[in-house]
Amino acid sequence: GGPGERSETGGPPDEVRGRTALRFGPRTLTYGELAGAAGALAARIAGAGRVAVWATPELETAVAVTGALLAGVAAVPLNPKSGEKELAHILSDSAPSLVLAAPGAELPPVLGELPRTDVDASAAGPVPAERAADGDPALVVYTSGTTGPPKGAVLPRRALATTLDALADAWRWTGDDVLVHGLPLFHVHGLVLGVLGPLRRGGSVRHLGRFSPEGVVRELNDGATMMFGVPTMYHRLAEALPDDPELAKALGRARLLVSGSAALPVHDHERIAAATGRRVIERYGMTETLMNTSVRADGEARAGTVGVPLPGVRLRLVEEDGTEITAYDGETVGEIQVRGPNLFTEYLNRPDATAAAFTADGFFRTGDMAVREPDGYVRIVGRKATDLIKSGGYKIGAGEIENALLEHPGVREAAVTGEPDADLGERIVAWIVPADPQGPPSAGELADHVARRLAPHKRPRVVRYLEALPRNDMGKIMKRALADA
Ligand code: ATP
Ligand code: MG
Repeated sequence: GGPGERSETGGPPDEVRGRTALRFGPRTLTYGELAGAAGALAARIAGAGRVAVWATPELETAVAVTGALLAGVAAVPLNPKSGEKELAHILSDSAPSLVLAAPGAELPPVLGELPRTDVDASAAGPVPAERAADGDPALVVYTSGTTGPPKGAVLPRRALATTLDALADAWRWTGDDVLVHGLPLFHVHGLVLGVLGPLRRGGSVRHLGRFSPEGVVRELNDGATMMFGVPTMYHRLAEALPDDPELAKALGRARLLVSGSAALPVHDHERIAAATGRRVIERYGMTETLMNTSVRADGEARAGTVGVPLPGVRLRLVEEDGTEITAYDGETVGEIQVRGPNLFTEYLNRPDATAAAFTADGFFRTGDMAVREPDGYVRIVGRKATDLIKSGGYKIGAGEIENALLEHPGVREAAVTGEPDADLGERIVAWIVPADPQGPPSAGELADHVARRLAPHKRPRVVRYLEALPRNDMGKIMKRALADA
């Protein structure tokens, strides 16, 4: 194993020291070099309360987080693209004692007061003896802010180890795997799964710096075995595939294509499968819970489903009044609640929000709504807060309407919301980015399209046309910003 599974003598075992752990563009670190750099950093920050990490997509960010783990110091990854206001909130909330950054990185004025420690990726120090316990905080990661201001989730070391080992089981993930990585490093997807995951297995990471279909092709043709991405990346691949036989060949070669952080549109899943012969595997997780479910490597990757609970995760669907739904009928919608060693311990400085998030018997209320199919697969229908529309006595999930709209050739992007309606309670609103802005499909045509595919009561009553959907840095649609769009 890598630094996550150190032997008692400290540092990686001899047989992995020479293997490549990380590659960011032209820069690489072997396991031995990473242990040296992270060990040296750990000695410099030992005893610091909590450290911020300026999480640019560079080698130094991986060294910073690995060093903090070795030092037993909690790391708070910062999104370098955040605005001053969001950074100020995170800094005052998490109160780090210093910020770790790559030597060349320019930090904005809001970080000016904070002592800075430059990360030296070529340093070589001894790996310190284990300092931290399982329940100690490893990371404080801020949620994406999709439904409200970001909250700092305190993630214990146990949660990281558990989730990565559960994924290893589900995905048959080993030290022979080489990951193509094009995600940012300030959220759990890119950081925990994308960096700490391969290191725990003793495999390697190749970070593209910036995601591009060409980068994916290059790495898959050069021995990479798996790719992690968000749906906007798979959408770009799906769009590029018809004109790019090299891309189809390269993707067809991958052992595992994994999507998460938001729902992968069925249309993109099907187009990729048709062109490459490979089905993208979806997994479902959150900052607070790390990973909850996944399609298994040897399982059937059905479009629109996120698979089964991972080992160690207890998952249930619950009605509004608290009763558990036991039917696997693919129809009865309930809130997903989860319990297990993968969970966070608390929201930083938010005892109220923490208490409200847990049930009396220790399950975390995810706020995500789903059904279970007869074989146990979970199908997410959307978020309770923004994706469940109560119209004409029906409870309608935005997701299936979005999927139907995306299958219309005149639609490039789609988001569905509800807004108050005197007759219906709520009416269904479709926000559309047309494929051709000069000739967008009419509201009537889109309503008929949805009515034919799903059911008449699921047709949008209002269609609004946009040039782009408001999305955050993970490519998630910011539904609360749509009203202002
Ligand atoms: P905030 O909590 O600040 O509003 P957020 O919930 O988007 O933001 P994250 O923790 O990054 O912050 O995202 C977790 C959410 O992402 C889940 O609750 C779920 O709604 C969504 N999600 C993650 N993976 C999937 C998936 N495979 N399919 C559908 N939704 C997903
Ligand atoms: Mg959330």
